[in-house]
Amino acid sequence: MKNQLFITLISALTALTVKAATYPSQYDIVYHRISVTVDPAVSGAPISNGSVTTYFKTTAPSITKIGFDFRSNMTVSSVLYHGSSVSYTFSGNVITITFPSAIAIQGTLDSVTINYNGTPVAPVTSVPSGYNSSTSNKALYTLGEAYTGSTWWPCKDSLSDKIDSVDLIVTTPSAYRAAGNGLVTEQVVGPNRICTWKTRYHIATYMINFAVADYTNYQYTITAGAVNMPVMNYLYTSSHNTAIYKGYVDVIKNIMPVYESVLNTEYPFKNEKYGIADCYGSWGALEVQSMTFTSAFDDYTLAHELAHQWFGDKLTTNDWHHIWLNEGFAQYFQQVVYPENLKSPATAASQRSSLKSSVSNTSTTYVSDISTVDKIFIGSGTQPYNKGAMILSMLRSWLGDTKFFAALHNYLIAPGLAYNFTSVDSLQKYMQAQVQSLGFDLTNFFNDWVYKKGRVTYAVKYQYVTNGVYIQLTQSPTSVGAGYFDMPVPIRIQNGSGLDTTVVIIDQRGKLYKSNTGYTFGTNVIYYGLSGTPTIAPVLDPNNVVLATASSITSSASLSPLITLPFRQISLDAATDKQKVNLNWKIETDEAMQSIVLEKSLDGTTFIPLNSFKPVETSHEEYQGAASDILTNYVQYYRLKIIKEDGSFVYSIVKQVVDNSATGRLRISPNPASNDITISLPPAFHSGQLKLLLSDISGKLVKESDLQAMPTIKVVTEALTPGIYIIRFINQNQEQLYGRFIKQ
Ligand SMILES: [Zn+2]
Repeated sequence: MKNQLFITLISALTALTVKAATYPSQYDIVYHRISVTVDPAVSGAPISNGSVTTYFKTTAPSITKIGFDFRSNMTVSSVLYHGSSVSYTFSGNVITITFPSAIAIQGTLDSVTINYNGTPVAPVTSVPSGYNSSTSNKALYTLGEAYTGSTWWPCKDSLSDKIDSVDLIVTTPSAYRAAGNGLVTEQVVGPNRICTWKTRYHIATYMINFAVADYTNYQYTITAGAVNMPVMNYLYTSSHNTAIYKGYVDVIKNIMPVYESVLNTEYPFKNEKYGIADCYGSWGALEVQSMTFTSAFDDYTLAHELAHQWFGDKLTTNDWHHIWLNEGFAQYFQQVVYPENLKSPATAASQRSSLKSSVSNTSTTYVSDISTVDKIFIGSGTQPYNKGAMILSMLRSWLGDTKFFAALHNYLIAPGLAYNFTSVDSLQKYMQAQVQSLGFDLTNFFNDWVYKKGRVTYAVKYQYVTNGVYIQLTQSPTSVGAGYFDMPVPIRIQNGSGLDTTVVIIDQRGKLYKSNTGYTFGTNVIYYGLSGTPTIAPVLDPNNVVLATASSITSSASLSPLITLPFRQISLDAATDKQKVNLNWKIETDEAMQSIVLEKSLDGTTFIPLNSFKPVETSHEEYQGAASDILTNYVQYYRLKIIKEDGSFVYSIVKQVVDNSATGRLRISPNPASNDITISLPPAFHSGQLKLLLSDISGKLVKESDLQAMPTIKVVTEALTPGIYIIRFINQNQEQLYGRFIKQ
């Protein structure tokens, strides 16, 4: 429903009372055939020949009575069961029917017919819920939301039992025709026109409505999914059968494909139709299933009502307290999805801004008082429309577009939900599924934004460093005592020369997380590495998508010591390839680095630097590199030393490399050496030619010579500078042996 009335009207009105289903209601409705005869030119448009046949299945054994809601000002003329009158009582707005004998078996399909007549009460609320008629307009329409279907027909006026299928037969003088749910056949019989509307989609009681006037059907066809579907626009012939009004309703041609596309879900009633029925007055519009009833023809209202076909009609709130499950969605599509797809960027931005600013500092999304339709839809202190829409906006900010719309898609097609009633828990489940893998929990978010009053402000502190930013967020509620609100907080960071990014920080009870990775430093300070160094003060919520405003934005030099910048993963792999060691590494980090140093050790304890590398970001927050080294010993060790922006550093794991081609170890003595060493060789090195290679610890070759093999070889070391050396022998079969010695 889209309401254009003002809250100040409410005080003069009498409350309608919500009726608890205290009557016997152990039945599941399968089908209604509703038949009424009306003349909108007659004051009050009384119903004659009213008849409702209900097919139902019992949901308990031994059912002796069933009940229906029906306003007691109406007259019940008879109740028929299996062709015969049965006894009933009609008081307190309830018809209670007693069967001649109990329906023994649970699940029995049976039917009952109630014949009635009377003049339904006119609405007494500012939202004209119920039965509206006007002799001056020669028109009438019903608006069953929230629980006023029972003003004009006996029904189970609840949010618990969708009806599988309905025939609604409206007989009027032939000058008029009726609008309704589903598809119509018309018949003129004598002075009357009989419009028979049939819908085979599940439908909530309050969505069963009809409107009567001198309608002209301005009909066109659009493609919904693969189906060419009629859009039937019932315009008042006397006043609105004009190019202007046809132009108004033509907007559906543009909006319908956009909704189908963003939801990746076909229009829900494509096998029947969509339509718009003209209704006098200036009360707004109601998303009658497959036929919006409207007194407003602006494109935003029509965009709102069309969205309801998915959210409200296909999936219907199961609780008037949570009317935001209908209205928050319709409002979000009206003010965000519709303009961002079909209006200019400036208009879309302005709509988002006005949506955000319309949410008060004290309102709740949840409607605590549902005692009247006015309190549901225009109650004070509750904003199911705009705050509900902002809940969706914040979820989209938290999840990102892809996951958010995937969640809506999954929610809309879920077995058990589609064409049935829904709940906050159901919506939460499909949103949660999208962020489960990142470790987020939306439980607090839903509780906070549905039930708590108001919104929040943030004191923002920031510290800019080379290629990075530290941000600290401190939240306060706008409504005293409301407590903490979990939420996403988008922050725009710029430097005016290429760097312009908006990060989305998730605030869960004062602990900040990165929305895209779920990463946290465990506190209310967070750090982002950037492609440049920011210079311009950050902007909180630059696109008006969350219910937070900045109370202050302050530069600070003292944020960086508040968190350490851990590296998520540093992997180092080493593999031997003949006499080479091939090293590869991958570093995952949000943080900026100065350099990566590859270090080597022969004992696993004493490392010396081999080479230094500039970090190369190979993909988002991922740095890869490679190097090679010669194999100089049976066992060698490598590690990475990662030097951060501030000069501090972290090490990778130590990687051990074993030369499996070596079969023995050289015996070198003395070690440490002074003037010479004696090397003992294994038998494979006792004959033929040998090559001797002597390197320092960095792998630099110091001496190379060819010599005759023998069991023991003396090598002069007098001229070597002190340090660690590697000596290597290669025999005629290309086998190698290594040894290490220290020159003093
Ligand atoms: Zn609405």
